[in-house]
Amino acid sequence: MYISDTLTKSKVPLETIQPNVVKMYVCGPTVYNYIHIGNARPMVVFDAFRRFLEFVGYKVVMAQNFTDIDDKIINQANEWGVDWKTVADTFIAECYHDAEMLGIRTANFHPRTTDFVEDIVNAIAKMIDNDFAYVTPNGDVYFSVRKLTDYGKLSGKKLDELRSGARVDVNELKIDPLDFVLWKSAKPGEPVWNSPWGKGRPGWHIECSVMSQKLLGDMFDIHGGGEDLIFPHHEDEIAQSEALTGKPPARYWMHNGMIIVRGDKMSKSLRNTFMVREAVRKFGKDGVRLFLLSKHYRSPMEFFDAPLEDSSKAAARVHATLYRFTEKYNYPLVPKYDEEMNDYQTRFIEALSDDFNTPVALSVLFNVVRELNKAMDDGNDERALKMYHLIKRVFGNMLGIFDGETEKVQRVESEEMQTLDTLIRGIIEMRNNFRKEKQYEMADKLRNLLGESKIRLVDTPEGTKYELY
Ligand SMILES: [Zn+2]
Repeated sequence: MYISDTLTKSKVPLETIQPNVVKMYVCGPTVYNYIHIGNARPMVVFDAFRRFLEFVGYKVVMAQNFTDIDDKIINQANEWGVDWKTVADTFIAECYHDAEMLGIRTANFHPRTTDFVEDIVNAIAKMIDNDFAYVTPNGDVYFSVRKLTDYGKLSGKKLDELRSGARVDVNELKIDPLDFVLWKSAKPGEPVWNSPWGKGRPGWHIECSVMSQKLLGDMFDIHGGGEDLIFPHHEDEIAQSEALTGKPPARYWMHNGMIIVRGDKMSKSLRNTFMVREAVRKFGKDGVRLFLLSKHYRSPMEFFDAPLEDSSKAAARVHATLYRFTEKYNYPLVPKYDEEMNDYQTRFIEALSDDFNTPVALSVLFNVVRELNKAMDDGNDERALKMYHLIKRVFGNMLGIFDGETEKVQRVESEEMQTLDTLIRGIIEMRNNFRKEKQYEMADKLRNLLGESKIRLVDTPEGTKYELY
């Protein structure tokens, strides 16, 4: 099995530390809002990768964190007039909800930063003792990147260029502009924890080093995440682990490409997000997963509604085929493998063993769907069962698609949604025409009519949009 390793910038054979065990840590979201498709890509990719590893015989131990203390969470809490923990607890619960909608299995561990503050403080103290970190007069603690000769090796960044481009706040009393914060001293009104350097809270990067070490050991097999985390987050994780244990935290680094919206990364701060919940409602769980796995995980993906809709239609066609089969056989049994089944399965696994090439694996799956239809047309029940078994129980199980029991329902729902969408857009157009003709009373009547049907209109610079609530 081969995977792409960001550190060595090459495709390498996966050689695990313990035979047949893969320990994997994937950086999770900062919980201050609902998760969007950009957050969902690493979640779906590494969920599917984990399922595949399990299928081929590995035991997988997986951890994915929640960053539950951060400037963004504090700002959101202040804006809403609630405390930071309410914001974090709320969006952790909502994240579990949305992950379940997407068929993402929970990891073995979902550590939260604030549950590990004591361990974080101990780790920082050790780095100060070993001279890898220093305390400033105002009580901040920084990591000293000059103490490592090879800082920058993961991202391949040139340190001098970074240094000259770095903007340092006058309040940040750093020795080197590239030094990064391990502990932030208390600011008025912010949540704080005790430390030997005074009250404050952990910086961002240290949490992942401490939690991964605590849960998976000094060195584990794979560290994953979005490629936007390579610098500085993962670069700094390597620096911290080397300062703490003398070793990098992981053997391999796997990074997924970004979801791009009109040239920009999809992110909350750019306000160009598409929420997971909305996507699943509109395109179905399998439509969204199929979309996210339709490109190789390392490639950037341009986000448009159209490919999502195509994936949704493709998923509906597979469901229709599976439904056709289960209508005839309520309790399909287990077929005996023959040469044809072995051949398809080998091709599927070979594709995924080659740096988790899901587009090639999916083309094998769609081939088998065609063969299932053909077998049913021919009245060849035995062959149909074999194809069904491969799609639903082998390939579907490995990628987390077509494994649910709601085939017919899902298909009907998506057809109904399309009809409803056409209808609502028609009403919006009528309302806009009334407004142009200054017939505001009629326009408001239409808005109220939609409101009574729990459809809210939102006027934006790009036109009127709607939300179901
Ligand atoms: Zn992280």
